[in-house]
Formats: sequence, structure tokens, C-alpha cells
Amino acid sequence: MGAAAELPAAEACLDRLLSQVIAEGLCVACGACLGLCPHLIFLDGRVAAPDACGLSEGRCIDLCPLDPAPEPAARRQRLHQALGSSYLPPIGPVQQAWQGRAPAADLQGKAQYGGVVSELLSLALEEGLVGEAVVTVAGQRGAPQGARARNRQEVLAAAGSIYAGGGALGELNRALAEPTDHPLAVVGLPCQVLAAANMKAHPRYPAAAQRLGLVVGLFCTMNLPARALRGLLKEEGVQGPVLKSDFPPPPAGVFQVWTQAGLRELPIAKLRDIRFPGCAFCPDLTAELADLSVGACEGRPGLNTILVRTPAGAALIERARERGRLELEPAAAESMAHLKQAAENKRARAAQARTERQHG
Ligand SMILES: Cc1cc2nc3c(=O)[nH]c(=O)nc-3n(C[C@H](O)[C@H](O)[C@H](O)COP(=O)(O)OP(=O)(O)OC[C@H]3O[C@@H](n4cnc5c(N)ncnc54)[C@H](O)[C@@H]3O)c2cc1C
Ligand code: SF4
Ligand code: SF4
Repeated sequence: MGAAAELPAAEACLDRLLSQVIAEGLCVACGACLGLCPHLIFLDGRVAAPDACGLSEGRCIDLCPLDPAPEPAARRQRLHQALGSSYLPPIGPVQQAWQGRAPAADLQGKAQYGGVVSELLSLALEEGLVGEAVVTVAGQRGAPQGARARNRQEVLAAAGSIYAGGGALGELNRALAEPTDHPLAVVGLPCQVLAAANMKAHPRYPAAAQRLGLVVGLFCTMNLPARALRGLLKEEGVQGPVLKSDFPPPPAGVFQVWTQAGLRELPIAKLRDIRFPGCAFCPDLTAELADLSVGACEGRPGLNTILVRTPAGAALIERARERGRLELEPAAAESMAHLKQAAENKRARAAQARTERQHG
């Protein structure tokens, strides 16, 4: 028997994704493995593989932000280096920190907080910086899904936060596979931003390195499986389509849901019980690998906190200021200190969860 026959067969990448991530309950429905491979599907907020693949050199496992194999800090360090930035936990590289809002009337009542994300996407599309933006919209039964926005109207249709995993990066993979060359923007949670960085740095994904021009990150502490969230709302007697939902900052301790019947508040513990188990291992509160990251502004409802991280992020913010599209003031030192503390706490919880998982 020749030497080659004695080598162990390389495990198929899909088998590794299934055994190390999905079967372990770690998948958070980011969508990075979707749209690349005909063997993976997204069904009611969950990833499933109805048949086998066999490829050992596919990209699915390499792009997965929840692959537990790489040591998280080493992986992030490598990605920052590949993208020309620095690994600076707990909130990542920050060139500028602002708080502010978009004053446009058509965003009022649609945006989650200050509408900064929607305004920046809209501006990038209008001015030809990108040709399409991959966003997350409400699909069937309110469950989120990826979509492409090409103009302000389509950006506004995606405004607001849906606290469930929508697999939007599958749409990014589909857009990158098309034979066009316009730059793309993507809006994503920190896990999705990590996956987008994996795409840009991947040696076998040149389209991502060439075309992914703008990555807008959202702050995130946890996310929920769409189906489980729907079940909980039903159990709690919340009826009808959800018009808006929110996790107001601590010490609120509630999840707020608005329907035609008005506002309902559920104790946050009920939401923690159904969150994606994979979120427990996530060390990133502020999407450290984004061009710019946007979240709530502590104590100032209706405003966003904005962390500008890269030259591309800084150029877009400058353009938005010049055009009067954003009203900005420097982020308050106290709220930045609280943000850093919250980010440090999330890192520590994730490290603890990883240690506990490794030991038992
Ligand atoms: C699951 C989740 C958890 C979050 N947790 C926090 C938190 O702990 N602290 C905090 O400060 N902020 C958190 N945010 C971010 C916050 O809700 C706002 O998205 C952010 O402040 C931007 O506000 P905005 O008014 O500029 O957004 P908008 O202008 O309304 O734009 C919102 C954008 O969010 C995108 N989006 C909506 N739902 C999803 C989704 N499920 N997955 C990916 N993208 C989505 C849409 O594509 C849209 O472009 C979270 C968001 C989500 C979706
Ligand atoms: S976390 Fe993302 S890449 Fe990993 S299995 Fe789930 S959807 Fe796929
Ligand atoms: S907590 Fe982390 S893994 Fe979970 S949805 Fe948010 S960014 Fe993704």
C-alpha cells in the first residue's frame, strides 16, 4: 500500500461544520455558511444540511464565527492583522467615538434608535460608494432574513432591530457570487462582522476581498432563535405582528414588544432562557472588526453611539456630516467607560464559558 493511502482521509468541511458547530448547538444563524453550498438550507431561523457534501476544501467551516477550534483571541488578532487594523479589546480599534442621530423625517418611527445605520447605508448607496447593501428584513411570520437594498426606500424597509438570527450573510454570499463588480455593504451583528472579516481574509474568497467595501457592525449582547421567540410571545399572549421590539439598556431588565395592542414588557430572564446557546461563547459586544459600529446611547433614547474604526468608516462619517445627514457630538467619557466595562464583562463571560466547555 502506498504512503498516500495511509494518510487519514480529510474530513469533509460540511461534516466538521455539522459535528463541531450545529450538532453542538453553537450555531447562531449568522448565515456565513449559506448560499455557498447547495447542501445547506435555512429553515425557520435554523441551518440544516439535508444531504452530504464530501468537499474537504469548502469554505463553510472556515467562515463560521462559532467554530470552536481556533482560539478566539488568536483568531481575532490574525484577522485584524490581515485587514490592516489592530486587536485592541475590549471594544476594538476606535479612531473616533460619537453619539448622534439622523434628523431625516422619513426615519422617525422606523429606525431602532437614531437611524444612523440606515442613514449611512442610504448615503453610501446614493453617492455610489457601494452598489448594494445586504441588510436584514422581516420575512415570513416576522422572522428575519437577508435582503439587498439598492436605494433609500429599500434601506428604510429594513430599519429597526429584529432580535432573532436571520442568516443574512447567505445573501451576501449570493451577491458576491454574481458576475458584477460593484462594491457591497453589509450590516451585521458582531458574529456576522467576524464572518465577514473571515471572508475578506480567506485565500479562496477573492470576491469578498475585492468587493466587500463597507462593513457596518451593530452592538450585541445576545440573540434569539426566531422560532423560539415566536413560541415565547405566543405563550405570553402577545398577539399579532410585532411592530417593534427592544432590549432597553440596564437596569431595565425587560424585553419590550410593541404590537397593535400596545406595549408588552417581558422579564429579560425569559429571553435569556431561549437565546442561542452559542451567544454564551461570544466575546465581542461592539463588532470590533467592522469599519464602524453602532449601538444604543446610554441614557439618551433616540441617539446612537458610533465607533469609527477604519479610514473607510471615517470617510463615510465625514461625508454624512458635510451633507448634514447626521447630527453628531463627541461620545461622553462616562458612557464610553460604561461601554468598555460592559464589553469587558462580555469577554470575561465568554472566556469562562469556553473554559467550562473545554473541561467538561
Ligand atoms: C440581535 C440584536 C442585538 C442587539 N443588541 C444590542 C445591545 O446589546 N446593545 C446595543 O447598544 N445595541 C444592540 N443592538 C443594536 C441596536 O438594536 C441597533 O441596531 C443599533 O443601535 C443601530 O440603531 P439605528 O437606529 O442606527 O438602526 P436602524 O437605522 O434602524 O438600522 C438597523 C439595521 O439593523 C439591521 N438588523 C435588524 N435586525 C437584524 C438582525 N437580526 N441581524 C442583523 N442585522 C439586523 C437592519 O438591516 C438595519 O439596517 C442589537 C441589534 C440586534 C439586531
Ligand atoms: S454560526 Fe453561521 S456559519 Fe456557523 S453554522 Fe451557523 S449559520 Fe453557519
Ligand atoms: S451575542 Fe455574539 S454570537 Fe450571539 S448574536 Fe450577538 S454577536 Fe452573534
